[in-house]
Amino acid sequence: MLNKPFKLLGKEIPAGSKTVLDLEIAKLHTRTTVKVPVIIERSIVDGPVILLMAGLHGDEVNGVGIIREIIQQKLNKPKAGTIICLPVFNIFGYLFHSREFPDGRDLNRVFPGNANGSLASQFAHQFTTEIAPYVDYVIDYHTGGGERDNVSQIRIHPNEVDTLKLAEIFNPPFIIKSNYISKSVRFTLNKMGKTILLFEGGKANELNKEIIAEGVKGTKNILVHLGFIDGEIQLKRETIFIENSKWQRASHSGMFQAVVKNGSFIKKKEIIGYIQDPFGEFKKKVTATHDAYIFCINRTPIVNKGDAIFHLGTQ
Ligand SMILES: [Zn+2]
Repeated sequence: MLNKPFKLLGKEIPAGSKTVLDLEIAKLHTRTTVKVPVIIERSIVDGPVILLMAGLHGDEVNGVGIIREIIQQKLNKPKAGTIICLPVFNIFGYLFHSREFPDGRDLNRVFPGNANGSLASQFAHQFTTEIAPYVDYVIDYHTGGGERDNVSQIRIHPNEVDTLKLAEIFNPPFIIKSNYISKSVRFTLNKMGKTILLFEGGKANELNKEIIAEGVKGTKNILVHLGFIDGEIQLKRETIFIENSKWQRASHSGMFQAVVKNGSFIKKKEIIGYIQDPFGEFKKKVTATHDAYIFCINRTPIVNKGDAIFHLGTQ
C-alpha cells in the first residue's frame, strides 16, 4: 500500500522523499530567527511514523551523536513508513553547552507547553501541536545531568507492557522502571497515546563512543523490529531489570573518587569509593549501603556532604 499524504509543520511531505524542514521556534530581539532542523525520510510504502529526538537538554550530546551516526549510516531511510530525526532539540543549550533554555528553564519540565508562555514553553507547545500528533513511536535520547554518568539504559513506566517489549528489543545493559515526571515530554507523549522509549547513556558534554554505539545498535533493533528497515535484530546480552533504585549520598565533603565499575554488582559494605580532604588528613571509605547494581556514578571530583554519588538499583 502506498504511503498516504502526510503534513508536518504545515508542509506536505511527499512519499519516497527526503525533506528537511525547520521548526521555527523564536525570533530573538536581535531579529535573528532560531530554527531547528527536522529531517524527514518517507518511504513510498505505507507504515508507521517514528521520531528520533535528542538534545532536549542541550549539553547531552551523546544523543546528538547517536542520531548523527544513524543518519550517516542511512539507517533513517525506511523501506516502509516515515522516520523523523530531530538531532538537536534545544539548539540554544547546544550552542552554549548548557542543559537549559536561555530563559533558565528546563525544556523537559514545561510540556505540553503554551503558545503564550515562556520561551521554553512556546517551543514545547510547537512540538506538542505540530510534530507529536503525527508520530506513533518516539525514542528520546538523554545522558545523566552534569557529571552523572549513566550506564546505557532504557527507562520505562512499570505498568507498560508494550513499551517493555520494545525496551527488551532495544537490548540495553539495563532497563530501569521509573515513573513519569510531570510536565516532561515523555509524560505528554504518553498522554497523547504515543509509545516512547527513553534512552539514557553517559554524562553531559561528552561524545562517548561506546554509548553512541550502544544507542545506534538498540535503535537499529527497534527499526528492524517495527519493519522500518531490513536487517537482523542483535540481542547480545541478558538485560538487567531494575525495579527499585536509591541514591547513595556522600557522607563527607571532599575529593571524591569512585573505585567501582559502572554497571557492576556490588555487595553490602564493599568499598566503592573514597572521599579525602586536600591536606592529607583524612581518607574516608565509601562502602555500599546494600547489595545492588550501580547504574550511575557521579564523576565530579569534588563533592559536598549529601551529594548523590552512586545510583544503586535492585531487581
Ligand atoms: Zn536529559
